[in-house]
Formats: sequence, structure tokens, C-alpha cells
Amino acid sequence: MTASPSSTLILGAGLTGLSAAYHLGDPSLYRLIERDDGVGGLARTRRRPQGFLCDGTGHWLHLAKDYTKGLVGKLMGDNLEARARKARVYSKGVFTLYPFQANTFGLPKEVIAECLTGLIKARYEEQLPAPTNYKEWVRKEFGEGICQHFMYPYNRKIYGVPLEDLAVDFAARYIPRPSVESVIAGALGLSKEALGYNAQFVYPKRGGIGALSEAIHHGAPRKAELGRKPRTIDLELKQCAMADGEVIGFSRLITTIPLNDLITLCHRGRPSSVPAPILEAAQKLRANSVLYFDVALKGDPKPHQDYHWIYLPEDDFPFYRVGSYSAVERSLAPAGHRSYYVEMGHYGEVDPSRFEGPMLDGLRKLGIIEDDSEVLFVTPNVLSPAYVLFDAHYVDARRTILDWLEHQGVISVGRYGRWQYNAMEDALLEGKEAAERILGEKR
Ligand SMILES: Cc1cc2nc3c(=O)[nH]c(=O)nc-3n(C[C@H](O)[C@H](O)[C@H](O)COP(=O)(O)OP(=O)(O)OC[C@H]3O[C@@H](n4cnc5c(N)ncnc54)[C@H](O)[C@@H]3O)c2cc1C
Repeated sequence: MTASPSSTLILGAGLTGLSAAYHLGDPSLYRLIERDDGVGGLARTRRRPQGFLCDGTGHWLHLAKDYTKGLVGKLMGDNLEARARKARVYSKGVFTLYPFQANTFGLPKEVIAECLTGLIKARYEEQLPAPTNYKEWVRKEFGEGICQHFMYPYNRKIYGVPLEDLAVDFAARYIPRPSVESVIAGALGLSKEALGYNAQFVYPKRGGIGALSEAIHHGAPRKAELGRKPRTIDLELKQCAMADGEVIGFSRLITTIPLNDLITLCHRGRPSSVPAPILEAAQKLRANSVLYFDVALKGDPKPHQDYHWIYLPEDDFPFYRVGSYSAVERSLAPAGHRSYYVEMGHYGEVDPSRFEGPMLDGLRKLGIIEDDSEVLFVTPNVLSPAYVLFDAHYVDARRTILDWLEHQGVISVGRYGRWQYNAMEDALLEGKEAAERILGEKR
């Protein structure tokens, strides 16, 4: 069966695809296809036993643009609240304020001295050549002490690859670069908690971050078709063949699925339509995966169990971060309980069963679990892809594919559609821009 080819086909009902649908604003203009059994993609909240609600690890909204503030305000009504970050770093057996580089107070004196002298040397004495990779970039920015005690081990844990493999400054947007004065103040215990892009955030009062995805879906004029997988895409005939046999014709394609998967679908649909350099470029795109465990515990939290999230640079802990859903929003766990997510970065295949025991040991060491009788359940989840790897091939491979898709009339947007490091606000905006392109063409 071939459907009407006059409308836009949107692949993926994460925030980008949902935003595209919402902004197209007319049910006759699109169909929205999602392979999962619910909308939201990464920004989805899952119901766990006994009333626990768990996001896909911490998903906190940072809204910088007036448009997104207005949009989210309109969609969420009173179901949104501003929160002030309560984050810590745990290393050398102590909790320090985040970010590490600006808050060494409380660490052993030798460590503080190494961090301060390293930073001062890096800023005023060392004449290091221009960095050629991420490891050299953090070294030049922060100096030897901060790198040894935090930047090197933490980043290795999150990305799962050697830091020499990564490009110079891809994460600069997310890494606070404090002045020497504030680093000294932070070493003396004089710093305030607010630094970095995520010092404040907003979050729903009810329903987890999935409430935002549900709200934008609710506002979209035509609902997502859930549990539906494309099998092939023929860009010449402008047809998407679904796994269930339907063939969907389209005039325009907005895709938010991972770029490499898209190329595979197009190649399967019509091998001759995908040139060899595009196939080669798709094979060069790399991303890590994040294994995370949702952990439900009995008992109200004590203060050190109630941080919003904790960064763990040391190899003694298999995870790079543990966060608490219920510390941010109490209603995400039933009364008298608390809930956590524990994140580990990997490159390549990962077997969750190997990590559950070491993960629980880490939570015991941190004092988050005080007694094993507190553990209600532990649920492993894998996000793959999770963080796109900005390696030596990244810029060329991504550009080659995106230029080619543009030439084919395909609009590929979103975190994995553009193969980038972005946030929920960006996803909302990219979906809107994709819709506006289509609407502009129709005028
Ligand atoms: C670990 C982690 C933590 C994060 N924390 C934050 C945070 O605190 N704050 C913040 O602002 N941002 C955060 N982000 C980023 C945020 O999640 C993304 O920017 C945003 O959700 C991306 O939305 P998207 O629609 O582009 O992609 P996705 O959410 O990946 O949506 C893509 C959709 O396409 C579907 N799909 C995939 N393949 C197919 C297929 N073949 N057919 C049909 N459907 C398909 C998927 O199921 C999914 O629903 C985080 C990301 C990660 C990985």
C-alpha cells in the first residue's frame, strides 16, 4: 500500500521530532513515526514498580532563549519549577563543590597545591603549543594538577576512549573556565555554589521530564505512530517501507534518527542511490554508549544522599556520575523512599550484568546505600548512541553526509540526526526550524 505522497514524514518522536510536528501545526501536513512504544526519546520518563518515575538519567532543562521559555511555559502551565543545582564532586574521600576546578577546598592540602600551581603555571608561565587534541586542550586550560585529579580520569570515564582521540575544544560550552581569582577563592573555601551553564535549571513538578515530551505531543495536531520501524528508505521514489509492510510516500523527510542508521536505511532501499564516500563517511561516525542503573531505595535521604548529582573522577568507582531523581523532585519516588541513576560510559558492547555488583559497591562506599535491606530494585538501561565522539574523522565525515542529505532534500536534525552534542532546548529549536523550512516552501 502506498500512502499519499503529499506530506512530510518525520522519523523519531524525541523532542526534535515532536517539536517539528507541533510547529507544522496541521494534521494533513505530516506523519510522525516512532519505533519505541512511547514518545520523548531521551527525554522520556519511565514508570517503574511501586510508583517510582525514572528519566533516562538526569534531564534538567536549561532555557536561555525567550522563545523556548515562552513555548515551555505555554506547554507546561504550572507544572514547572526553577531549581538551584546541588552538585558535588567526590574524590580523595571528600565531597567538594562543583566544578572541581573552582572548588578544591576540603581536598588534601597537597592536592590543592598541585591544582593551584598547575593552573597558575598554565595561565602565566608555560608556553605550550596550540593543542591538537582534547587532552592537550584541557592540559593547556587547567594545568597539570586539575587534569591529573579530575579532567583526565573523569573524561576518560565518561567517553570511554583515550582523550587523545577527541578534538580540541568540543566540550568547551559545558566546561566552566574560572578565573585564577575564583580558583584561589575556591581553594580557600570562599566560593559560591553557582558556576557553569547548569547552576540553575527548571524541571516539572509532576511526571518527570517526560511530562514535557507528553505536553508537546499533546499540543501536536497529529499523534505519533508508535512501535513502528522503517525497513528501507528509497530517496529517489521518496518512499519509506515499514517493517510491517506499509509503504509511506513523502514529499519531504525530516529525520531525527541517528545519521548512520539513516544512511543504512537509504542504502538498503536503493543501493545505487548512496555513493561510496557517503557509506564510508557513515562508517566513520563514532559514539559511546552510556550504561545506567536506576536504583530504588527505601528510606528518606540523609543530607549526603540528597545531592542532585555527584561527579566521581576516581577509578575506584566504575561510574562517572550518580544522580538522584528524587532529590530534584520528591514526587519521583514514593513517600519514605529515594531514587538514583548511576552512569557509566563505554565504547563498544557493554554487558550490564558485569557492572551491577561493582556499581552497588560504589554506592555503599559513598554512603548512598547504608544497608543492603534498603535496596528495592535496580534496573539496567543502555543509551546507545549516547555521546557522539568528536574524533579526527568527525568534522569531515559528518559534513560529507549532511551536505549530501541536504542535496537529496532530506532535513536531518536533532542530537543524532546532526550527530552533535546538544541539549533539550536545542532539540526544541531544531524541530521548530525544520518545520519552518517546510512551511516556508509551502507558502
Ligand atoms: C546521558 C544524557 C544526559 C542528558 N542530559 C541532559 C540534560 O540534563 N539537559 C538537557 O537539556 N539535555 C540533556 N541531554 C540531551 C538531550 O537528551 C537531547 O538533546 C534531546 O533529548 C535530543 O532529542 P532528539 O529528539 O534530537 O533525539 P532522541 O531523543 O534520541 O530522539 C530520537 C527518536 O528517534 C527514535 N528512533 C531512533 N531510530 C529510529 C528508527 N529507525 N525509526 C523510528 N524511530 C527511531 C528514538 O526512539 C527516539 O525517540 C542528555 C543526553 C544524554 C545522552
